[in-house]
Amino acid sequence: MTFIDEFLPDLTVESPGRINLIGEHTDYNLGFVMPTAIDKKIILKFRKNGSPTECKVHSLNNNETLLFSLTNIAKSPLNWENYILGVMHELLNRTTKIAGFDCIIQSNLPIGSGLSSSAALECGLASGLNALFDLGLSKEDIVVLSRAAEHNYVGTKCGIMDQYASVMSKPGFVIMLDCRSLESKYIPLNLHDYKLLLLNTNISHSLADSEYNTRLNECLEGLKMIQQKHPNSASLRDVTKPMLDEIKQKIDPVIYNRCEYIIEENDRVIAASNALKNDDLVLFGKLMYGSHDGLQHKYQVSCPELDFLVDYSRDKEFILGSRMMGGGFGGCTINLIHKDVVEAYTKEMSQAYRKKFNIDLDAYLAMPDSGTIIKKQK
Ligand code: ADP
Ligand code: MG
Repeated sequence: MTFIDEFLPDLTVESPGRINLIGEHTDYNLGFVMPTAIDKKIILKFRKNGSPTECKVHSLNNNETLLFSLTNIAKSPLNWENYILGVMHELLNRTTKIAGFDCIIQSNLPIGSGLSSSAALECGLASGLNALFDLGLSKEDIVVLSRAAEHNYVGTKCGIMDQYASVMSKPGFVIMLDCRSLESKYIPLNLHDYKLLLLNTNISHSLADSEYNTRLNECLEGLKMIQQKHPNSASLRDVTKPMLDEIKQKIDPVIYNRCEYIIEENDRVIAASNALKNDDLVLFGKLMYGSHDGLQHKYQVSCPELDFLVDYSRDKEFILGSRMMGGGFGGCTINLIHKDVVEAYTKEMSQAYRKKFNIDLDAYLAMPDSGTIIKKQK
């Protein structure tokens, strides 16, 4: 029998991926987003192994095993190991109650497709160890330390949205999240005859990481210029269009466009939350297209594959809205589509996409679902 065959867990964690209906690249500018967890998730099984210090984590997805000692946590050259080790580093800074454990990971969440498998992995590990060793961490602690792990060990300076959505979501609701105060409003997601269809381009352009950090710096550069006139603006979220226009003559046009996109996207999220409350899916869909247009032209994080999928949908009366989702340069589009045509449209779209790019498209219906679930074995 192998380690995996004879693995009897003390507890199991279901840690979901997430979608974001609208509000892209706004989280690290401390603005608004509208995510929810989905029914695709990472399952993590845990057990104490009796050792004071030795730990073993095995991923069934890449069939790799990470062995480490709690007394010697350091960054690894292997990317996936840093998600684990980063969380361990953050946890061990906060507690001395963790001892040796084994963990097995299995996931049906597409990896690297903008559905945030990274946050699901971090938060699932932190939540499992919190329960296994009775660490007494709150859900908010889990969110914050998981993001710190991604910043400090993986090196992605991400906002708070992914971790928050993975942990805090409630089935049937989207979260209107203020990424500065972490105040969240749960809005019922009533889509009537419409569904949320994810179309995965199955590409990931290598630009993604470097351009992400470039955008972060461009936003900071714009903010600094605005702060010369408006020192109380702590983030781009505090900046209005007239404030930005005051420095239009002085600011680099590219930086201007980045800032303008963020200001407009924050406004769109607020408008979209009102549209949902008013049951106005048509307006909601228009805001999704507005978001994509801003990401394509002003923030410039889209790519030909994503634009092709969104453009294909534009004249279809059964699609209310479509946009790229996630950091960009690949990953998925999210589409608000009438339930009766999902199958036919997916087939048509897949053929058109293959013809254009010679790549197979993947399609999933996103079912809004609960945040982290912990099940203790008896
Ligand atoms: P996304 O969060 O959109 O899926 P990221 O690039 O942020 O994309 O994170 C993907 C990375 O997370 C993978 O490259 C891998 O290192 C890690 N990861 C996610 N799920 C798993 C898993 N089941 N097993 C091992 N590593 C995983
Ligand atoms: Mg990620």
